[in-house]
Parts: sequence; structure tokens; C-alpha cells
Amino acid sequence: MLEILGLVLALGAIAGFARGRGASPVIVVSVGLIGFLLIYFGGGLLVSSEDAHLAILLCAWGWVGAVALYVRFIVGRGRPSPTGSWICTNCSYTNGQHANICEACQQPWTPPQPAGD
Ligand SMILES: [Zn+2]
Repeated sequence: MLEILGLVLALGAIAGFARGRGASPVIVVSVGLIGFLLIYFGGGLLVSSEDAHLAILLCAWGWVGAVALYVRFIVGRGRPSPTGSWICTNCSYTNGQHANICEACQQPWTPPQPAGD
């Protein structure tokens, strides 16, 4: 039960990363969830010992973690990135540092213009 709650929270975070990095949240969450289920249940069919079960659980969570890191750091790497949380000039949504496009309206973050030019 706790695992399901953890998985929901992890996938929610991954969806947020995806929105803020220009990836499709549906696809990224699907990849994370399907990979987790395949490893968890597929691995469970192959082994029966308690130790192996723990290893499979770690692998399944490792997969979710890898997807999260990929979306957070690799996707959208070519775009300029903010150094802290920022407020979208288009819709006023407050985005986290991870987002280099607005999570609400998808407008890319732009570096602040120097004042008094
Ligand atoms: Zn916005």
C-alpha cells in the first residue's frame, strides 16, 4: 500500500518535471509506470526467494528514479535554464527551478532583461 502511494507521488513529480521541461507528461509517466510494473511483476514471476524480491523492488524503483532524473536533467537541456523559481510573464504561474518552460502555459523561460538599458 505504501509502495502505491510512493509510486503515485514519484509519478506526480515526474509529470511536473515533464511539463516544465517540454516533454509529454502522459508519455513519461507511462514509461515510468509500465517499466515499474514490468520489473516488479515480471521479476516476481521469475524468482521466489525473499532476497531476490528485494532486489527486484530496488530495480523497479531504480527505473522510476532513472526516468525522473532523465526528465529532470536530460530533457530540455539545450534551453536556457533559470537559477531559481520564477514567475511566468505570460500567466503569472510560479514555476520551480527545474522548469525551463512554464508548467501552466508552456511559455519558455527567458533570461531577465537587464534594467535601465
Ligand atoms: Zn505561464
